[in-house]
Amino acid sequence: MSTKRRTFLAGGAALAAVPILGELPANAETLPDYAPIPPSALGPAVNEQGYFVGRVKKNLYWVTDSTYQAAFLTTKDGVVLFDAPPSIGHNLQRAIDQIAAENGVSNKVTHLVYSHHHADHAGASSLFGKHVTRIGHAENERLLARDNDPTRPVPDVTFESRRTLRVGGERIELAYHGTNHTPDNIYIHFPDHDTLMLVDVNLPGWVPFDFFNINEDVPGSIAAPAKALSYPWKHYIGGHIGRLGTRQDMVVYRQYIDDIIAGVKQALAAVDPTPYFAKYGNNAWAAVKEYQAAQVRYASEPVIKKYLGVLAAADVYTATTTFLILESVRLDLGEGSQIHP
Ligand SMILES: [Zn+2]
Repeated sequence: MSTKRRTFLAGGAALAAVPILGELPANAETLPDYAPIPPSALGPAVNEQGYFVGRVKKNLYWVTDSTYQAAFLTTKDGVVLFDAPPSIGHNLQRAIDQIAAENGVSNKVTHLVYSHHHADHAGASSLFGKHVTRIGHAENERLLARDNDPTRPVPDVTFESRRTLRVGGERIELAYHGTNHTPDNIYIHFPDHDTLMLVDVNLPGWVPFDFFNINEDVPGSIAAPAKALSYPWKHYIGGHIGRLGTRQDMVVYRQYIDDIIAGVKQALAAVDPTPYFAKYGNNAWAAVKEYQAAQVRYASEPVIKKYLGVLAAADVYTATTTFLILESVRLDLGEGSQIHP
C-alpha cells in the first residue's frame, strides 16, 4: 500500500474508499428449510416460452409466468390489456396473438389499464407503443410523472372515483376506494365476466409478500378485502403467483389478517417490556427491538401454526407482516399507548 493511500485511509473519507462487503452467498445446503407448499397454492404449468394463458370467462383471459399476472379482454375493436409486468414482457403479446388467432379476433392492443404505478406490474407498458390509450387513477398519473420512467408512460385518461370503460361493446368498471397497497391502486370490475382484478392485495393461496406486501397504507389495505367482497364476482385476478382466486380465497385471506390483528392486540397487552429495558439500559433501540421481536413472536406463532398447509409460505413471511401490522395497530389505532400519569 502506498503512503498516499495510507494517509487517505487515515482521513475522514476512509469509509468511502473501502468497499464494504457483506457475507458471501450461502451454499444451498446451509439455507434454512421451510414447510412444503400446499398443492392448492400452485397454478398451471407455463409453456416453453415461459407463460400460461387461459380463459377467465368468455373473452376475458389471464396470462402468468407463475409469479406475475396480467389480463386482457378481446373485443371487436381490439384488445384491452390490464397491467404489463416486465417479467412477462414480450410474452404478453405472444399470449394475445395466440388467443386472437384461435378466436379469429384482433390482436391489436388499443387500451392498457394500470392497476397501480409499480414497475413490477407496469414496466412493460412501453412495449405497446405510443398509440395505445393508457388509463389509470389520477394519482397514478402523478406517481408515474414523479417516477419519470420511460417504460411506464403516464396515463392518457385518468379518473378520480369511478369510470366505466367501454371498448368494442365490452364494459369494464374502474373504481377507486381510497389508498391501500399504493395511493393509486384501483378495483377493476368486469360485471359481465364475474371477475374482479385487484392487484397486490390478496395473492390467492399464499400469505402476503414480505412486510404485508410492502403496503404503503396498512389500515387501507386491511379494509380492502371487505371492499372487494362487496362486489359480485366469482373469479379474482390478484396480480401474483400462478393461479386465479375465488371468493373463498378472499375470505381465508381476510381471516388470516384478522387473526394477526387479534394476536397483535393480545401481544401489546401481554408482553412485559420490563426485562428488555432492564437488560439494555440506555440502548433504547436494542430494548425496543427485542421487546417488539417478542411481541411479533407472541402474535405470529399461533397464526403460522393455524395457516401452515392452508396458505403457502405462512412460515416464511407471517412474522414480517405481523411486525408491520403491529406498528399500525400501535400508531394508527393507538393501542398500547399510555399517557404518562
Ligand atoms: Zn405493487
